[in-house]
Amino acid sequence: MTVSHPSPRRVVVLGSTGSIGTSTLDVIAHLPQRLQTAGLSAHSSWPALFEQANRHRPAWVTVTDPDAVRKLDRSKLDHGIELLTGPEGVARMVADPEVDVVLSAVVGAAGLEGTWAALEAGKTVAVANKETLVMAGPLVMELAARHNALVLPVDSEHSAVFQALHTSPTRQRGGQTSPTRQRGGPLAGASGLCSGAEEDPLAGASGLCSGAEDGPLAGASGLCSRVEEVERVVLTASGGPFRGKRAADLAAVTVDQALRHPTWRMGPKITVDSATLMNKALEVIEARWLFGLPAKRIEVIIHPESIVHSFVEFVDGSVLAQLSPPDMRLPIQYALTYPERVAGPARKLCWRELSELRFEQPDHETFPAVQLGYEVARRGGTCGAVLNAANEAAVGRFLAGELSFLDIPRVCRAVLDHHNFSARPTLTELAALDRWARQEVTRWIASKPRTTTRT
Ligand code: NDP
Ligand code: MG
Repeated sequence: MTVSHPSPRRVVVLGSTGSIGTSTLDVIAHLPQRLQTAGLSAHSSWPALFEQANRHRPAWVTVTDPDAVRKLDRSKLDHGIELLTGPEGVARMVADPEVDVVLSAVVGAAGLEGTWAALEAGKTVAVANKETLVMAGPLVMELAARHNALVLPVDSEHSAVFQALHTSPTRQRGGQTSPTRQRGGPLAGASGLCSGAEEDPLAGASGLCSGAEDGPLAGASGLCSRVEEVERVVLTASGGPFRGKRAADLAAVTVDQALRHPTWRMGPKITVDSATLMNKALEVIEARWLFGLPAKRIEVIIHPESIVHSFVEFVDGSVLAQLSPPDMRLPIQYALTYPERVAGPARKLCWRELSELRFEQPDHETFPAVQLGYEVARRGGTCGAVLNAANEAAVGRFLAGELSFLDIPRVCRAVLDHHNFSARPTLTELAALDRWARQEVTRWIASKPRTTTRT
């Protein structure tokens, strides 16, 4: 008997030339009956983008960097692929009626625009770009609810939590469920994605961030359909290249050392975030908005092997975890084929080689970034946008040899502490604060004597 599948889902990959973007294209190439490349974007790497496009044959490619647009050679792009430019190009790709899913893998705050446009168009968005949720989580989740769009996690920890929360997704008969039909499924709801929200103090209808310490959550309340059953989620962290070190050992950390991650191969920004543990701070905030859980029900544990990608502890004491080798192709694929599981290219666990899984408490003294994440997750409002922008600017300056490793969380703390807090910011206010925080980092660095190390 042959099983017939509906036509493949058409995927737009924003940030296709990066680490997540190239892994996404690998997943798509392995599943031609289910997935098809509809559009690709990059910022400045147009040669790599055109090469990807000539291989994967999307309808469009978009180059967003104006300098790159001026320099690119159109003749290197095959006929039949339309070249678009700038944010308008991204907006056109993600809103096209032919597109089913948008994979958001641009790095940093720059990822917000494309994700926003896709959600406004009612698309399913697989979000790798955690900075979007850190900056504007309540507004993003509320927008998704308003447009009956879906936000699905790609970050490995959040995918693990999502998988543990949805052990029995509703299946449609006859194989693959289209993203459109999924919207009637367990995640759906015009007022938010949390079906148990009505009875729960976490639910809020306003779409605005309360800013209260662990108070009512804003807007659509997240992907957790039975929030009352969850005692806590525990996000695992590899600990990065400096696990076990003390602050005194980290004073002269070089860029090369910070970029040597023990278990994951990723873009430079998130690799530095993993070394400072700011990545985990951002992930606590991401989990807060994605799942509609208060900060006090989100924990972080160090797990050096990066095999257990996170745990969910339920109120009855049961703990569900998701395990797999550190390979982003698995969470990417799960988001793209959700709610189906199919054989794909991700590496499988080799149980014979698996001898030890270790867990340790984070060292908050050496890695103060994690506490910043909790604070921001509790306060909400403008804090996420400020922390995110300060960190992005600080990491950029560290990578340029202009800021020391230990100064990254210090400058973030300083900028966060003296920003003008507002509990219910608009998107425009968040964008202004993003610019302000970056300038503050420049000011902070200028006021300090230079003591950095570059290799
Ligand atoms: P990379 O640095 O490898 O890739 C970034 C991508 O974004 C590139 O395609 C780049 O284009 C594009 N880009 C950069 N700046 C801009 C801009 N200003 N406007 C538009 N596009 C831009 O990053 P990663 O793939 O590692 O990470 C992407 C996102 O996924 C991040 O938010 C990260 O936190 C998240 N993530 C990544 C994981 C990983 O394993 N890598 C794991 C979990 C989450 P160009 O090549 O032209 O510069
Ligand atoms: Mg992660």
